[in-house]
Amino acid sequence: MTRPVIAIDGPAASGKGTLARKVAQALGFALLDTGALYRGVALTMIRAGADLGDGDAATATARALTAADIDRLTHDPALRLDETAVGASRVSAVPGVRQALLDFQRTFAANPPGGAPGAVLDGRDIGTVICPDAPVKLFVTASVEVRARRRFAELQGRGENPDFTDVLADMAARDDRDTKRAVAPLVPAADAVLVDNSDMTPDQVFQTALEIVRARLPA
Ligand code: C5P
Repeated sequence: MTRPVIAIDGPAASGKGTLARKVAQALGFALLDTGALYRGVALTMIRAGADLGDGDAATATARALTAADIDRLTHDPALRLDETAVGASRVSAVPGVRQALLDFQRTFAANPPGGAPGAVLDGRDIGTVICPDAPVKLFVTASVEVRARRRFAELQGRGENPDFTDVLADMAARDDRDTKRAVAPLVPAADAVLVDNSDMTPDQVFQTALEIVRARLPA
């Protein structure tokens, strides 16, 4: 039996991670935060003192990652650091890295762990490359200013003292890298439903997503 996949793509700080978690919880589906895989490659390289600009080293690191490594890394607080995110956006542009992580993602989608009845994958290229046949595809976004403001508030909440102009510039630079890379750039799939949540509350986004899911997935 094929298990339905819900693909949730979108840029940084779009709220797609939070939405993916809520949707997965509501439906009892397994959840894969695919950004954690690219972050895991970057973090492993940073810790090994490797050069993040070395595509061959990045590919070798991605190929060597085991499911157990990924599980351990997803619980590592350093995975959420900005330095790791920036590294992830660099290594994710390397074709060999994307290829190495493809199987893990497809296997997760086809055989959701724990016998879950379906899977939610969130990332940048789930609807376009990883699971192009997913019955539900959402592209979650918000203006770059709104996303930078969310990020700014998050950093302040962590006790940091960020500069808004820097946060906005970083966000724009990451968007630029993610949307302009040659392999699997961040673009909505032709059949994705666009959810621009610049002026929506998180609960409105969740309810909107549930309506879309219910319309597309047979009960
Ligand atoms: O979503 P998150 O911020 O954790 O992703 C970190 C980086 O990993 C992104 O900026 C992007 O470059 C990369 N990524 C990707 N494809 C995915 C998920 C993340 O290229 N499916």
